[in-house]
Amino acid sequence: MLTLSANKIITADTCKRMMYYRYILGIKTSVKSANLAFGSAIDTACTTYLYAISMGLSVPNLEDIFLGKWEEETDCEIEYTVTKTPEKLVDMGKKMVNLFPQAWEKSGLMILVMPDGGPALQVKLSAQLSDTLGLVGYLDLIAMNDDGEIIIIDLKTAAASYGDLFAWQSDQLTSYNILVEANRHTLGIDAVNKLGFMCLLKKVKPVIEQPKLVRARSSQENAEFRSKCFDIERDFQQGRFHKASRHAFNNPCDLCNFKQLCTFGDTEGLIIPEDKKPLLQVA
Ligand code: SF4
Repeated sequence: MLTLSANKIITADTCKRMMYYRYILGIKTSVKSANLAFGSAIDTACTTYLYAISMGLSVPNLEDIFLGKWEEETDCEIEYTVTKTPEKLVDMGKKMVNLFPQAWEKSGLMILVMPDGGPALQVKLSAQLSDTLGLVGYLDLIAMNDDGEIIIIDLKTAAASYGDLFAWQSDQLTSYNILVEANRHTLGIDAVNKLGFMCLLKKVKPVIEQPKLVRARSSQENAEFRSKCFDIERDFQQGRFHKASRHAFNNPCDLCNFKQLCTFGDTEGLIIPEDKKPLLQVA
């Protein structure tokens, strides 16, 4: 039984060998990216705000929520860049979480309340695509507009605004569309109407963009995605984990956590499960 997620699918698209290292062998890096820690701390503060307003509670100090999560996330070895030092990220994060409430209010959206009375925030959903293939996802939020339309939104901390086409093509959003539809009775909804990203731009003066929404995926688009998932399952089953160099201008290797292992067999900085080490010989 294989369970796919948006991250696994995106990794498979990027490089099947990377997928092998990350998801079959379970190799992790000993150093965490500062961007990941930052995104997690921002997500926590924004979700806390959305939970409070959805439940009619007073909104806590969002800077404190951000800083608490940031300290938790950075309590390990972190990889910073020259332009994103810890001080700059903390300053940016505090500004960002203070801007989020106004931007959310401007969107006119409200968080969907599920039949159990809880707001649809950080929702884990799963679905069976076949007897042997599952799909799982962790959705940031499901919202409603004044017309009662059901809208799936993913919050993104990003360096630059997402292009207009991305929401139409994103496999992450397609997987969420399928997951929400598969769980619509549990969620108390009839159908998904719209999908999109809400980008929180990492600038010295952060910018919170309004959600960029597109219509829900068509049945044809969902069917194509399912077909892609079955192809990935076949690659898993048949051990097809080929490297992907692509062209020089879009080569994924420079940004790959496993590049030293993949290129030179060097495992420094990697945490490899003991029982998987023998399998590296056949990678
Ligand atoms: S170094 Fe390149 S080919 Fe090797 S796993 Fe990473 S992305 Fe794939």
